[in-house]
Amino acid sequence: MKAQQALYIDGVWCPAEGRDTIDVVNPVDEQVIGQVPAGNAEDVDHAVRAARAAFPAWAAAPPAERAARLAALRDVLLARKDEIAGTITAELGSPLAFSQAVHMGTPIAVAGSYAELAATYAFEEKVGNSTVYHEPIGVVGAITPWNYPLHQIVAKVAPALAAGCTVVLKPAEDTPLTAQAFAEAVHEAGVPAGVLNLVTGLGPVAGQALAGHPDVDLVSFTGSTAVGSRIAATAGAAVKKVALELGGKSANVILPSADLAPAVNVGVANVMSNSGQTCSAWTRMLVHTAQYDAAVELAAAAAAKYGDRIGPVVNARQRDRVRGYIEKGLAEGARLVAGGVEPPRERGYFISPTVLADVTPEMTVAQEEIFGPVLSILRYGDEEDALRIANGTVYGLAGAVWAGDEAEAVAFARRMETGQVDINGGRFNPLAPFGGYKQSGVGRELGVYGLAEYLQTKSLQF
Ligand code: NAP
Ligand code: MG
Repeated sequence: MKAQQALYIDGVWCPAEGRDTIDVVNPVDEQVIGQVPAGNAEDVDHAVRAARAAFPAWAAAPPAERAARLAALRDVLLARKDEIAGTITAELGSPLAFSQAVHMGTPIAVAGSYAELAATYAFEEKVGNSTVYHEPIGVVGAITPWNYPLHQIVAKVAPALAAGCTVVLKPAEDTPLTAQAFAEAVHEAGVPAGVLNLVTGLGPVAGQALAGHPDVDLVSFTGSTAVGSRIAATAGAAVKKVALELGGKSANVILPSADLAPAVNVGVANVMSNSGQTCSAWTRMLVHTAQYDAAVELAAAAAAKYGDRIGPVVNARQRDRVRGYIEKGLAEGARLVAGGVEPPRERGYFISPTVLADVTPEMTVAQEEIFGPVLSILRYGDEEDALRIANGTVYGLAGAVWAGDEAEAVAFARRMETGQVDINGGRFNPLAPFGGYKQSGVGRELGVYGLAEYLQTKSLQF
């Protein structure tokens, strides 16, 4: 797609206040593929005013009308699926087939789910002698990351619009073209002017202005825990609601009764997919000591098969950061069994799928989010030991448990301090609540739980 040299505010593409721009880079060949405006605090203010002005009418629109716009949005995304997948591939670097299936498939499903929920949700209920109304919270400031550039946007904007909120979106600086394609799709779907506004820009400038804007009622953020905690502090000081989707360091727990090969192979695929840039990735594999050597051998072979086919990471800074973690892991005593810091290609931000064995729970690579194609394999003695290791980080976003018997896996999963667990390779469900325990976040996205984040209640007594 062609980059818009403009911001989308109040239903039109308009020039930014300042002259600053952001270069968009293709991580496969490091070429600049476009430029977008870097919006400033004035642009954010302009967008928030548009969102505020559009709020009363959109909030008062019948849910069926909001549902119809969301269904139209889903249809536009579906019609433009291949084109937008190409844009995602160009600015994120993910293989095209993955962009089509996952980067487009998931948001299309999520947009569809909110079209349905907007039409069917009980925005009004009776509680004894009261009528309780679920009313939209107001103007939403949405700040999103680059790792699933369209999904992260749709997971906020679709429920916000279903609820009757209006939105100002500040997407990641690395993937602004996907956000521009999304704004075009919203326009094409007939969503009224001012309901969605897009300000491309830098986090510390446009993002910070949005998070601190006095007329924003809710800040919904996905990204790093460091930035998320600052946003929560700013919002808290202004008594604003926040929703935070932060980092993860999820455990893939393979219990001794499990069928080892699928547990290891699915686990490796989970980490390598999207080049490891998935907050819910199972980056720690926990294996019983009796099966440890066999699991390491299987994982090393599985990782080696991917080669450079997983695509690069998003930018040079992420590549250097991930390499730094691999070096740190080796320095702290981990054993390299696949991949390593040597780049598989001369150009592009590629990192070889890497497997570290003999990782112990206190090592940096077992505690911190790496956000690259790096799997750590840890050893446990018994189930209590496995649980202690699984729960032994500040994070709690996702996880997996494998066992011969489903009930055994469920019993273990119920003791994990984490928001989502896949049992024996369970499938992604776009209606299931997604979000973190502990420092992985506050609030939930997707399905009816995601919708509730954008609503507040008013009760009338009779
Ligand atoms: P990040 O800085 O937290 O970026 C997330 C979003 O917040 C981006 O739109 C970013 O803008 C914006 N932002 C940055 N500083 C801000 C501020 N002071 N106020 C308001 N908004 C601000 O994450 P990152 O730099 O892209 O990646 C760093 C690490 O975060 C990764 O290595 C990974 O560990 C983690 N991460 C997690 C997720 C997740 O889904 N949980 C997603 C992405 C990254 P810019 O794009 O301009 O920075
Ligand atoms: Mg950043």
